[in-house]
This record gives sequence, structure tokens and C-alpha cells, in this order.
Amino acid sequence: MTAMYIVMLGPPGAGKGTQAKKLAQALGIVHVSTGDLFRENLKNETELGKLAQTFMNAGELVPDDVTVRMVEDRFSRPDCAKGAVLDGFPRTPAQAQALDELLKKFDSRVKVVPYIKVPDDVLVERLSGRWMSQSGRVYHEKYNPPKVKWIDDVDGTPLYQREDDKPETVRHRIEVYNDQTAPLINYYQEKGVLAEIDGTQAIESVFADLMNTVEKK
Ligand code: ADP
Ligand code: ADP
Repeated sequence: MTAMYIVMLGPPGAGKGTQAKKLAQALGIVHVSTGDLFRENLKNETELGKLAQTFMNAGELVPDDVTVRMVEDRFSRPDCAKGAVLDGFPRTPAQAQALDELLKKFDSRVKVVPYIKVPDDVLVERLSGRWMSQSGRVYHEKYNPPKVKWIDDVDGTPLYQREDDKPETVRHRIEVYNDQTAPLINYYQEKGVLAEIDGTQAIESVFADLMNTVEKK
């Protein structure tokens, strides 16, 4: 089987993480989230974590060179050889080019880019109700509640709200997305791999569309 590299595209709060986890599990490949990798570094107080923290809390992007190095490092592990669902990367045209170069080394390329489309007002509501587990599982107080309030279904640890999910920071992150990440819609459209998905539907319906799209490619 040829390796399957998938890039999840969409604004903050579109549901990339939620869908990427389900998709990776369904396809038996890894889920690589740069946001999760940065948060892990933050928790472990690594140099990379300290560097990333100021950018993350301000809702800005971490510089490209730092981000690309972290992804190259992740891809050097053997579990990425079968493919990956990339979530939150690439986020700039420079990162997209770096990814193309990286995949060339694997004799591969980006196969499909599901673009999860959701209007801005919905994003703010989703992010202000987002509850996260330490391990990166994603809940929503209304749309995907845990069985017990503020407790992870799987391991029973407390859930938390992300520092950067405050409404002021969310609005800035959406601007950053529009300025720096939205150009990737064209980038992947021109390569013929973009597939638009209506992200306003319920989680299971979005996933059904996503599976359909991926199976067709
Ligand atoms: P992203 O990774 O794109 O920022 P997430 O997957 O973290 O998005 O989802 C953001 C929030 O919205 C989470 O609280 C999640 O539970 C919720 N969510 C995700 N998909 C949907 C959906 N289709 N309908 C309603 N809420 C959703
Ligand atoms: P969301 O799920 O809301 O889209 P992420 O968890 O993907 O957010 O990212 C959180 C923060 O981590 C971003 O606001 C940014 O500061 C940093 N980050 C994550 N991925 C990247 C990336 N590819 N390039 C630069 N910064 C990133």
C-alpha cells in the first residue's frame, strides 16, 4: 500500500482535531498535530516549549523554521512512513513548500486536503466551549460533552480550557488564519487535491463526508 498523507485545512475551531483523530484511527495511520506537539513541549518545559509559549498565548504563529524543524523531527520516527493525518500543519505557504520537500524524501506527496468550512460566528462559539484533556482529546460543553462534566471519558483526568480559547485571542487567531493560512486553499486547489467539506454539520455527518472524500482519492 502506498503511504497516505492527508492535510486537514480549516480555521481554528473548524473541527480539524476532532476529525483528524477519527480519520487516523479509521485508516490506521498516525495523527500529527503541531498544536499538540507544542503543548506537549510546553507541559514538559522544554526550550522549544518556552519559545512557542509567547506566540501561542498571543494567538500568533510560531516561526516557520522552528515549526518545520519540529515536524521533520516527528517524521523521522518510523510510524510516519505509512502516512499521516496532519492537523494544524502546514499553516503558511513556506510550511507547505517545506512539507512538499519533506514528502519527496519519502517518495510521496500530499494526497488529499479536506478543507473544513465553517463561518466565523460558529468558530467563536465552538472554541469558547472547547474542553481539552491532558492527552489532547477534544470535547465541547454542548456539542460533544464528556460523560461527567470536566472529566476525561477515557482516563478520568480533569479537562481544561485552553488559554488561547478566550474570545479576544480567538478573534485574533481567526485574523491570523485569514492572513497567513487561507492562501493554502488556492495552493492545494491548484495542485488538484483540495476537497471542500461542510463543517457546520454534526460531527458524525462531517466524518461521513470526510471518509467519502478520502476513499474517492
Ligand atoms: P480545530 O482542531 O479545527 O481547532 P476542534 O476539533 O478542536 O477544532 O473543535 C473545536 C471545538 O468544536 C471542540 O470543542 C469540538 O468538540 C467542537 N466541534 C468539533 N466539530 C464539531 C461539529 N461538527 N459540531 C459541533 N461542534 C464541533
Ligand atoms: P487550533 O486547533 O485552534 O487550530 P492549534 O492547536 O492547531 O490550534 O494551534 C495552537 C497554536 O499553536 C497556534 O495558535 C500557534 O501559536 C501554534 N501552532 C500550531 N501549529 C502551528 C504551525 N503549523 N505553525 C505555527 N504555529 C503553530
